Amino acid sequence: MKIHEYQAKELFRAAGLAVPDGRYCSTVDEAVAAYDALETELCVVKAQIHAGGRGKAGGVKLVRSQEQAREAAEAILGATLVTHQTGPAGQEVRRLWVEEGSAIACEYYIGIVVDRETQLPVMMASSEGGVEIEKVAAETPELILKASYSPDDGLAEEDAARLAAGIGIPEELIGDAVSFLTGLARLFTEKDCSLAEINPLVTTEEGRVIALDAKINFDSNGLFRQEGLADLRDLDEEDPKEIEASKFDLNYIALDGSIGCMVNGAGLAMASMDVIQLHGGSPANFLDVGGGATKENVTAAFRILLSDEKVKAVLVNIFGGIMKCDVIASGIVAAVQEVDLGVPLVVRLEGTNVKAGRQILADSGLPIESAASLDEAAQKACAALGAGGAA
Ligand code: GDP
Ligand code: MG
Repeated sequence: MKIHEYQAKELFRAAGLAVPDGRYCSTVDEAVAAYDALETELCVVKAQIHAGGRGKAGGVKLVRSQEQAREAAEAILGATLVTHQTGPAGQEVRRLWVEEGSAIACEYYIGIVVDRETQLPVMMASSEGGVEIEKVAAETPELILKASYSPDDGLAEEDAARLAAGIGIPEELIGDAVSFLTGLARLFTEKDCSLAEINPLVTTEEGRVIALDAKINFDSNGLFRQEGLADLRDLDEEDPKEIEASKFDLNYIALDGSIGCMVNGAGLAMASMDVIQLHGGSPANFLDVGGGATKENVTAAFRILLSDEKVKAVLVNIFGGIMKCDVIASGIVAAVQEVDLGVPLVVRLEGTNVKAGRQILADSGLPIESAASLDEAAQKACAALGAGGAA
């Protein structure tokens, strides 16, 4: 689960991590009032969307008067920002954060993720703050310093000091940087984060160490034990198809391709996506209907798949283990009768009662193409795309 910068900064403040004073606003007038309330000449008006790269896209503006604050808020609110993280369609700005401006001395990058190899959180720090860290990682990986830590013990002060000194934080501010880094490491594990990123963490002319940007993602599996965090979810920022899917316990993630996939089991879903790619197609989504798919969630899954304009063919790949193929086949037939299909449908069923299942599909009179294997199903779905003129 993602949250906005202003929400992350509120969590930082509560955890004792230094952030600029600021105000959340959803209208231009509120932004002007926030500028006045902050009582400092330099303020920053910042678009709140679940994506980085806002600065380059015009979503972060420094202002030095009430009038400039108004102009900036008018320009940003309601605008659609296109950044390297939003995709080409961009994201509409509905919320603003107005904060006191900082006189930046130096910008740094700090990030924490869970390292799958060591199975520990790892903090990454770089002197190359403010720019895209992906570029630094690709071109000058030696400029990223790392320290793993145990979730129980937290980040060791020596490690925090090594990172702080290694990225060039001035000697007199190392103590503050160590408090910040160890505090951030603690917040990461306490709140079940999957990612924390501060780009940039800055030192200021006045000698402060402070987070100018703040990005946190949470592991959704931990939300049940994190009181209040689920309330921070902003449905405006999420794909409506993904929200609809979550209501039916479908694990759905939108992708960019043209073959809609409906599969049971995450492993089989990933294998199906791979085999589609192997045959020259590309999946429009990841969709795991789960082990106990019912007619209701199969129908919901079809509706969600077909609401995506990019979908030019649908591939259903179901292995009937606990679920029986005849039940699934009846569900598919009922769902297809209910939704307006409009694109070719290829179904591969395997497992318990597969003969009865295939018979149900064949007898339905619906334009459903059956396939005996995953390979054949993927080939047929890709071929159906070719016939439809889409790739
Ligand atoms: P992002 O572009 O979405 O990552 O948004 P950021 O919050 O990182 O802001 C983009 C850039 O604006 C930062 O890298 C800074 O260089 C600049 N910026 C943000 N806040 C301030 C500030 O208070 N003072 C100054 N001088 N620059 C700022
Ligand atoms: Mg940033």
